[in-house]
Amino acid sequence: MADSPAPASPDTFDRLGLPPQVLANLASLGYRTMTAIQAASLPPALLGKDLIAQASTGSGKTAAFGLALLANLNVRRFAVQSLVLCPTRELADQVTTEIRRLARAEENIKVVTLCGGVAMRGQIASLEHGAHVVVGTPGRILDHLDRETLDLSALNTLVLDEADRMLDMGFVEDIGKVVSRCPKARQTLLFSATYPEGIAQIAARFMREPQRIEVASQHAPTRIRQLWYEVRDSERLHAVSLLIDHFRPQSTLAFCNTKQQCRDLAAVLRAGGVSALALHGDLEQRDRDQVLVQFANRSCSVLVATDVAARGLDLANLEAVINVDTTPDAEVHIHRIGRTGRQGQGDEPGLALNLASLDEMGAVGRIEQLQGRESDWHPLSELTPAGGAPLQAPMATLQLIGGRKEKIRAGDILGALTGDCGYAKEQVGRINVNEFSTYVAVDRAIAAEALRRLSAGKVKGRSVKVRLLDGEES
Ligand code: ADP
Ligand code: MG
Repeated sequence: MADSPAPASPDTFDRLGLPPQVLANLASLGYRTMTAIQAASLPPALLGKDLIAQASTGSGKTAAFGLALLANLNVRRFAVQSLVLCPTRELADQVTTEIRRLARAEENIKVVTLCGGVAMRGQIASLEHGAHVVVGTPGRILDHLDRETLDLSALNTLVLDEADRMLDMGFVEDIGKVVSRCPKARQTLLFSATYPEGIAQIAARFMREPQRIEVASQHAPTRIRQLWYEVRDSERLHAVSLLIDHFRPQSTLAFCNTKQQCRDLAAVLRAGGVSALALHGDLEQRDRDQVLVQFANRSCSVLVATDVAARGLDLANLEAVINVDTTPDAEVHIHRIGRTGRQGQGDEPGLALNLASLDEMGAVGRIEQLQGRESDWHPLSELTPAGGAPLQAPMATLQLIGGRKEKIRAGDILGALTGDCGYAKEQVGRINVNEFSTYVAVDRAIAAEALRRLSAGKVKGRSVKVRLLDGEES
């Protein structure tokens, strides 16, 4: 396995020899330059090589394998030609969305998601209509293979995405069974944020002379402003409130080392009037979905998460990351703060706010060593509340019972709110229609009233059950 260094300077997609319509589509997506992992992995991937590619969350790994698998695809052939295995449903949904965006360059590319927790029947129908690309979780893919509702005999590209997380979740055996149903002559691409030992074993079992590509997990120091505050354990959660009050970031991801700390912090922030929700491994899938919907539609300003719960999630426009607990693993610190100060987020640098107690100074030292610079310490007393109301999210989320199963579309909800209920379009935010329920973000100031009006009125000629998600997620 040869190591390929990432190129030092920004790099456009032009040199890859992709068709003009693909390049035009990338430009329309606002992808002007390749990210480091794309620049390093696309040339060998487009030559058909097997790859083990490692880069931190948010570095654009999806497009790196997405463009490669689309290049291998023959649209006129009605058969599954690529399969992407992902650890969870929400990651599979994100990958499907990104591949569909990349696939817009050509007409009629069908991408189907196959994950658990969703009825088999609909998935089987989608497969019968023809799929070129399948994205899913190993368990559900195996289910379809066992029932022979999925045929991989025409497959040319297999992608293992978030391979480290699939290992953590114990999917190795399932992956092995899926691979045994794929043709031997194929390209296999493995993407991962970290490189635990198990990856090399997967590579040895399932890949052909893979080339290893690693993009150093360093950020341009100017893109992220890092500030450190020394705290006693007893004042840690309160210090987070002070940080939020002082900096008033519109959207924040706060990392804790334990689930209990997540729950405690979310409760403290909510008690102070801040719209905060906790995301951790104990939540049911449905509750996780609800939390993520509320964060994405701006009904929640602070998402409190463990590293495991946040891994792989694509959270757009994070203004700040708060390290509530210092992580003992310096690499993890780099991954955490890399969530803010992303490309395409304007010229504002991201903000990384770090709390550390005396007990954590060893960990801080390791982080300084890895980053090659000293920490910028500030006293808590420097934090002055900006004054005024606590940091509330601008929107609030209404949940309607009924979704795709009831043939509800976003337009129906928008129509009900702007028609019968009498609201302006600007007072309605993002609308997510799921299988059985629908989430709609509305201006926080009108939320309670909109709840009453929607409950009293009709959507598509039927009355609907509506409730306001009030932040008590668990
Ligand atoms: P990863 O899988 O490495 O965590 P993603 O593939 O989810 O990262 O990409 C993170 C974000 O970056 C996505 O919102 C994606 O649309 C965006 N992105 C990917 N490639 C580019 C690019 N070349 N230029 C600008 N934005 C990009
Ligand atoms: Mg990813």
